[in-house]
Amino acid sequence: MSDCLFCRIVAGEIPANRVTETKQFLAFRDINPQAPTHVLAIPKQHVASLNEADDAMLIGELLLFARDVAAGEGLADDGYRVVLNTNAGAGQTVFHIHAHILGGRAMRWPPG
Ligand code: 5GP
Ligand code: ZN
Repeated sequence: MSDCLFCRIVAGEIPANRVTETKQFLAFRDINPQAPTHVLAIPKQHVASLNEADDAMLIGELLLFARDVAAGEGLADDGYRVVLNTNAGAGQTVFHIHAHILGGRAMRWPPG
């Protein structure tokens, strides 16, 4: 999708601080970090949100990719949070599915 911000990051049309990538997924640092470590993990293929997702393998592998990114950032032992905001009421602003990987500070519950 040429008008999608994250598709444009995948295509290299918009710069991003890339962390790692695989054939299917890309991880890059959030431009407005909410924790000492804040990385976004996305499928390279466009899916607008969890509501539109129909490929169980893709979503499962996205979660394992996020787990691997967190481990690579040194967060596995202390802990980290993986968040998928879905639709506006949950705070989704970019409609290309992404997992937020947040760590490096204590996380509160319930989330705001
Ligand atoms: P959402 O609010 O949709 O769950 O998360 C979108 C995230 O994308 C936000 O945390 C926001 O800071 C991040 N973001 C928005 N535009 C850009 C950008 O151009 N580059 C990067 N790296 N992150 C962005
Ligand atoms: Zn997209």
